[in-house]
Amino acid sequence: MPENQPNVLRILTYHRVANARDSYMLDPRLISTDPATFKQHMQHLANHYHVVSLEDVCEAIARGTQLPKKSVLITFDDAYCDLAKHALSILQALRLPATIFVPTAYPDQPERAFWWDRMYRTLAYTAYIGFDFAPIGHLSLKTPAERRQSIRKIKRYLLTMDHNQAMLQVDQICEQLHSQATSQKSVLTWDELRGLSKQRVTLGAHTRTHPILTNLSAEQARDEMLGSQQDLQREIGHVLPVFCYPNGNHNATTTQILKENGFVAAFTTLVGHNNLQLADPLRLNRQNITPKTSLTIFRLRLLRLGAYVDQWRLRNKQQAY
Ligand SMILES: [Zn+2]
Repeated sequence: MPENQPNVLRILTYHRVANARDSYMLDPRLISTDPATFKQHMQHLANHYHVVSLEDVCEAIARGTQLPKKSVLITFDDAYCDLAKHALSILQALRLPATIFVPTAYPDQPERAFWWDRMYRTLAYTAYIGFDFAPIGHLSLKTPAERRQSIRKIKRYLLTMDHNQAMLQVDQICEQLHSQATSQKSVLTWDELRGLSKQRVTLGAHTRTHPILTNLSAEQARDEMLGSQQDLQREIGHVLPVFCYPNGNHNATTTQILKENGFVAAFTTLVGHNNLQLADPLRLNRQNITPKTSLTIFRLRLLRLGAYVDQWRLRNKQQAY
């Protein structure tokens, strides 16, 4: 893939843009970058790349039009509140379009938190110094490092099991460790999302409750996928036929559901750049931005060689969320 070939699309995945001290009740592992580094990333894109909108990408896929050389699509998963606080003003100042993938059961429901944030809040702040979790054994919570390790172990286990069972396990752990409920809002409201949709931000479906689709029945997966599209249509008034798989998990069933319902593009956590002439548009690759992505690393990852290094580096790693 020559470096400056047209129709090669780099798709960046951000989750939260925040400082570690912000929203201390939320899982800090969802922080992709801090606002200052995010600004550097965006300035680099504005100076050296062609940032395209999701509409441009859909048109290129559906009609075969070509994207310009050095095309980049900026995406944010999960619609965290931090975006309005830290990312939007930077995007607006540079006039860069972006996309937010929204799990549509969460806006306007401040009492409802993502399961990984509930796990974090419970295990990071409980007064208990350990507990027994039958499938894994005893989990120590004596030190912050042990708490982080226990959170990682539980999350890894939950991602492998039937999603409904996993959510029951989350409820059980929260109850066992006397987790405090919170009404701290973590996701943008529908009013805020409507406002963003008028400012070069495109909204896309990301299921309703953010389940691991491959750990659900086909029927439940279909309800989650099409339901989120209907919610966006109802709340925003229009929506593109695109979808983002939670945690990147997808299989032949989920892709078939999208195909049957006229979706033209879907986003995974598979790593790499996309040559739109060759790519499967329902399994598009993305590059996940993490706090390790300094400006220097960011610049490298946008290059062809950087994409190959990413593929090699992340060959066995599961990405979130
Ligand atoms: Zn997500």
